[in-house]
Amino acid sequence: MTPNGKRFTNEGSSYHDFVQAMVTACKGEPEVSAWLLCDHKALRNYGLGCVAPSPLPIGRHLKSGYLKRGQSVAELAKKIGIQPSVLEATVREFNQGACTGDDPAFGKGSKAYNRYQGDALVTPNPCVAPLESGPFYAIKLVVGDIGTFAGLVTDEKTRVLDASRKPIKGLYAVGNDAASVMGGNYPGAGITLGPALTFGYVAGLQLAKAEAASEVMLQVERREPVAISHHA
Ligand SMILES: Cc1cc2nc3c(=O)[nH]c(=O)nc-3n(C[C@H](O)[C@H](O)[C@H](O)COP(=O)(O)OP(=O)(O)OC[C@H]3O[C@@H](n4cnc5c(N)ncnc54)[C@H](O)[C@@H]3O)c2cc1C
Repeated sequence: MTPNGKRFTNEGSSYHDFVQAMVTACKGEPEVSAWLLCDHKALRNYGLGCVAPSPLPIGRHLKSGYLKRGQSVAELAKKIGIQPSVLEATVREFNQGACTGDDPAFGKGSKAYNRYQGDALVTPNPCVAPLESGPFYAIKLVVGDIGTFAGLVTDEKTRVLDASRKPIKGLYAVGNDAASVMGGNYPGAGITLGPALTFGYVAGLQLAKAEAASEVMLQVERREPVAISHHA
């Protein structure tokens, strides 16, 4: 939820969609941030952010201030600077639907993407359950940077294209340097490393071919015999 204690999106969405919603929700605020909450049972079953699930201890995260804890929702609210009555109302409203696996406000669990990272043993909705057994916990979320969709426009051979979409001789780009084939969407994990590896391989083949071709040209210029390959 936002620093004013209100939910603003489906928390089961990809970080790509979540952070965009977070930026919109924090418009006009001094900082773009959010709090992610859970109860004791959820913390020990699944962990939260860098906090690993049971049996790993949580003491160092409490000590560092990364993990906030309150015996009640109101006490947690005070620790994270939210008005207790507002946070209590938000949790109460969420819990009403969560008891039956519903999230009428944002549809958490309504998409396959939400559910595949949920707990199949939790029914009827693998990623929704009420926050009921204290103590309650929260971690602060801020925007991070793991890559970019923007970059140099390339073709299927990884050649960089100029403004008239013609390949620039000898210039190739892959990874974060190339505009993503995903076109700014996040269909699932691996959307940067997958294309980076694939197009890195394609670029390697292109460069090897270019190297072989320039060697043949040199041999022709030097009037040396050229070995002809019969590979299909
Ligand atoms: C925390 C985190 C988690 C991620 N998780 C995933 C994931 O689960 N799945 C996924 O697909 N992607 C993930 N990503 C994104 C993915 O790791 C990056 O998009 C990818 O590594 C980019 O690869 P790259 O080779 O283009 O760039 P980089 O890996 O950034 O490589 C660029 C290299 O160039 C070097 N360099 C920079 N400037 C110079 C210079 N002037 N001279 C010489 N060398 C230079 C750098 O030191 C670096 O080694 C994650 C990223 C982060 C940060």
